[in-house]
Amino acid sequence: MQRWYSIHDMERDGKVIGSVDGVRAFHECHPGAVYLHHGQQYEIRRLDIDRRRVEAAPANLDYYTEVLAEKETEILEQFESIDLEGYSVKLGRLKVTEQIREYCKRRIFGQDRLGYFLLDLPPVLFETVGLWLELPGELREAVEDKQLNFMGGIHAVEHAAISLFPLFAICDRSDIGGISYPRHPQIGRPAIFIYDGYPGGIGLSARGFRDIGALLERTEKLIAVCPCDTGCPSCIHSPKCGNGNRPLDKEAARRILAFLNGRWRITLRPASVRPKTPPPQPGPLLPAVQPAVEPRGRLFFDLETRLSAEEVGGWGRADKMRLALAVIYDEERGVFETFAEPEVDRLLETLLAAELVVGFNVKRFDYAVLGAYTKKDLGGVRTLDMLEEIHRKVGFRISLNRLAGATLGEEKSADGLQSLRWFREGRVDLVEQYCRKDVEITRKLFEYGRDNGHLLFREAAGNKVRIPVDW
Ligand SMILES: [Zn+2]
Ligand SMILES: [Zn+2]
Repeated sequence: MQRWYSIHDMERDGKVIGSVDGVRAFHECHPGAVYLHHGQQYEIRRLDIDRRRVEAAPANLDYYTEVLAEKETEILEQFESIDLEGYSVKLGRLKVTEQIREYCKRRIFGQDRLGYFLLDLPPVLFETVGLWLELPGELREAVEDKQLNFMGGIHAVEHAAISLFPLFAICDRSDIGGISYPRHPQIGRPAIFIYDGYPGGIGLSARGFRDIGALLERTEKLIAVCPCDTGCPSCIHSPKCGNGNRPLDKEAARRILAFLNGRWRITLRPASVRPKTPPPQPGPLLPAVQPAVEPRGRLFFDLETRLSAEEVGGWGRADKMRLALAVIYDEERGVFETFAEPEVDRLLETLLAAELVVGFNVKRFDYAVLGAYTKKDLGGVRTLDMLEEIHRKVGFRISLNRLAGATLGEEKSADGLQSLRWFREGRVDLVEQYCRKDVEITRKLFEYGRDNGHLLFREAAGNKVRIPVDW
């Protein structure tokens, strides 16, 4: 299944603009899909499965598309099992089958559903590794006794837990899939599956299995602190849900998590009570909520703003541009962290606690944006500003994109203006993805320069030139 599909721009003589794997091809490149590539929208005209070819054309549409899929998972092999109070957690090999039958168009602004459209696609099948929670039937009864929707509850727990994965494994939430069953045919009881979205697995759910206690605690907390009434994109809604985020029941999720974390006791029939075994490895868990001043090692950092330079009267007014979100990659812990505007204080504390903050043009731009939020002097942040270093060496400024293109053969995934548009359209997920990609590029450039003593850039004439660096 993991074979690549090439995407062709039919308005540029079929030029190849990218490629996607088989699973993503069905999700994002079915006929009628709106596909985003480097910030440009493409409308998919044709998906040729035999030739593994996607035909697309640039478009300018006010909607995006999402598929609705029926998913099933079959347990092929169980590797490990942990028995906890009244339920158990397992890790094993799974076969996932997805049947995409229709897609929905949703307005970018406001996210109204504009209509549903049928698709005629064969099922997608792949084997992967996943973890699953086997829940007692009594939990379902207890939740339903409270007049709550049990299916909506386990579905919400699945979404919220998946949304936390990027906190402790380097991944995107779309790298992880999930399926919830009020009664799984093989287990005969309710179950929540969380699995790696790639054939063969890539170690993400195995990591979740090891940290299951912390993952469930964090999930409970995420839902508890979210101020929404019935669920929102910050807690239990998922942009990737194959069921259009239905059903979801936030209160039921709260109950179920309280049960999982031993805070809500229900009566279990003797058959459901199992001896409790400790988790296999208590070890270091998720980065818990730490006091912000705990010292940090090397951090890679970038931020996106809410307003453009034009809107605030020029780049010199960066202090008026306001934070949309910031992303940090903590090298020691191997995690990305995202900070939205309300968390700006914690962001500032974190930067100040770092041994070194590595960024690109951070002193003149990012710190100027953050300066609006604090009286503290950000000049005190130990910073390696790669652009400043380069400027010092060559006497002019070079964009991150040009350096990355020549040095790494990689480009940014969009540009700042596209990011502003996404933010306005409520697509904070895309802004976050974009910002994270920039942080990744920053880190790779830093490492390349450190290991090779130079970076590369392409002169107007086309030849590559070395810029010596010594960080
Ligand atoms: Zn919420
Ligand atoms: Zn879902």
